[in-house]
Amino acid sequence: MTEEKTKVVIVGAGMAGLTAAAYLMKENYEVLVLDKNDKCGGLLRTIQSGDFFFDSGPRAFVNSGIMKPMLKDLEIDEEFLENKISIGVEDQIFRVESMDSLKEYEKMLINLYPESTDDIKKIIPIMNQLSEYTGVLYEFDNPNFTHLMNDKNYIFKKLIPWTFKFLNTLIKFNQFKMPMEVFMARLTDNQSLIDILIQHFFRKTPTYFALGYFYVYFDYFYPKGGTAAVVDLLKTKVLDGGGEIKLNKQIVSVYPAEKTVTDSSGESYSYDQLIWAADLKSLYRFLNPARLEAEISAKIETESQAMLASKGAESVFILFLAVDRPTSYFQTKGGEHMFYTPSRMGLGQTMRLERENLVKDFESKTKEEVFEWVDQYCALNTYEVSIPALRDTAMAPEGKTGVMISCLLDYDVVEKIEKAGWYGEFKETLENRITSIFSESIYPGIADDILFKFSSTPLTIKQVSGSSEGAITGWSFEGNVPVVNKLADIPKSALTPIPEVYQAGQWAYSPAGVPIAMLTGWYATQKILKEAKRSRGK
Ligand SMILES: Cc1cc2nc3c(=O)[nH]c(=O)nc-3n(C[C@H](O)[C@H](O)[C@H](O)COP(=O)(O)OP(=O)(O)OC[C@H]3O[C@@H](n4cnc5c(N)ncnc54)[C@H](O)[C@@H]3O)c2cc1C
Repeated sequence: MTEEKTKVVIVGAGMAGLTAAAYLMKENYEVLVLDKNDKCGGLLRTIQSGDFFFDSGPRAFVNSGIMKPMLKDLEIDEEFLENKISIGVEDQIFRVESMDSLKEYEKMLINLYPESTDDIKKIIPIMNQLSEYTGVLYEFDNPNFTHLMNDKNYIFKKLIPWTFKFLNTLIKFNQFKMPMEVFMARLTDNQSLIDILIQHFFRKTPTYFALGYFYVYFDYFYPKGGTAAVVDLLKTKVLDGGGEIKLNKQIVSVYPAEKTVTDSSGESYSYDQLIWAADLKSLYRFLNPARLEAEISAKIETESQAMLASKGAESVFILFLAVDRPTSYFQTKGGEHMFYTPSRMGLGQTMRLERENLVKDFESKTKEEVFEWVDQYCALNTYEVSIPALRDTAMAPEGKTGVMISCLLDYDVVEKIEKAGWYGEFKETLENRITSIFSESIYPGIADDILFKFSSTPLTIKQVSGSSEGAITGWSFEGNVPVVNKLADIPKSALTPIPEVYQAGQWAYSPAGVPIAMLTGWYATQKILKEAKRSRGK
């Protein structure tokens, strides 16, 4: 007699859902992954346009001591390419090679803001210190995926000493968890300097994360074939292991009393356990709590209110350019991956207040006023620039280059613009404005060599991933974060008050990103395995 397999349904075939599926396959579970899209990967995509390939999600990955060991643990073999970061302001650019590059950063900032030399000399050592702490977290392969727990040498010589450093780092980070804006204002009153240092992070990012990010710059890597190569490999792993992935299945109802989910065409799927690896607000919107015990229903109601009252983080605008210039042209101008600010002025507090006013009081603004704000926002912002073919030459035709230029942008601004009927014009204005800013600064005359261009907005992102407010990395730091946000508590991130339902992905823990999506996917599977062991022992 064969034992009947436990059936786990996973909603969401992004990095979290696919990781959970791949791990459950290893444990011989029956796995069904459902996704509303016609492709796996969620926010993580490599898209083809003509002979050009672009990454429309992350530009590259940060290993964080998680991604590479986890892929190895899953026996996923992948070729990783180098991904160096450059930082540029106006005509000054440097490449981040090591922590020593902070000296170049200091030099650049002093050149730009000589009047704030003393402040810069205070700020840089703090960045150095926090980056070194970040290094403690990122340099060590997550012990859950190394399988060295029987190796005494590893435990006594590596793991235990590292654990002390890790615990010390958590204490230090706790002292720097205030919003970066608050901390920076204590160090300098030069708003432009503050902006240049932090305006590419989400608003109210904890100080330890923003000022400790310098270490992260050399933790990036790029998979051969583009970021979505990882998605394809994970998908193949699931399918080869006998798992099933059904695409174009949008789940619109979750009924825990019956242990079923139902898609938009009315088809139902039963589960023994469910992993929700998609937007968490939608889980609570789609939940049918009928026939659950009163105590459980009350807990669900509390959780639901917290989730629905919270907000997703900022979204992005991405400009995709196919350029009739060889990749070598871009090599000396920031290279493959750069954070570039065309103006040393920075967005400024006034500009930020204007954004708030724009959202609050949109109806009273004229189209000209709104577009004027857009114009200034583009001129003063910081951009993330990425060139896939500078890591992998196959990503663009010979002699030509695909360039992605993106900046943070709020979903609610774009939503209001769309409601006003100006969306098409807005997109085109932004595309042209950003092109001309780059044409007049770091890439002179590039506007004349563009073969084609297109763009994606926060609305596109919401549509692709079903992500609330078009958020690209889960919850906003500006309000209440309704999920676990302490590293020490991360194993609990997979738990929900709903019987037999677990959660995973960028909404399950904050701050998030690809490594956290994968890690929470793994934690969800660990909770399922632990529960199975517990019930077998009963
Ligand atoms: C432009 C951009 C830049 C980024 N940069 C970085 C970076 O530098 N570093 C980093 O770590 N991260 C970055 N991220 C974030 C990272 O891509 C995400 O955090 C991560 O991919 C989230 O994975 P996930 O599986 O949790 O969710 P998702 O990728 O959102 O996957 C969720 C899946 O669920 C599906 N789904 C949703 N609702 C339903 C439903 N009702 N029924 C069925 N299916 C449903 C969606 O179609 C989707 O496939 C970036 C993202 C973007 C867009």
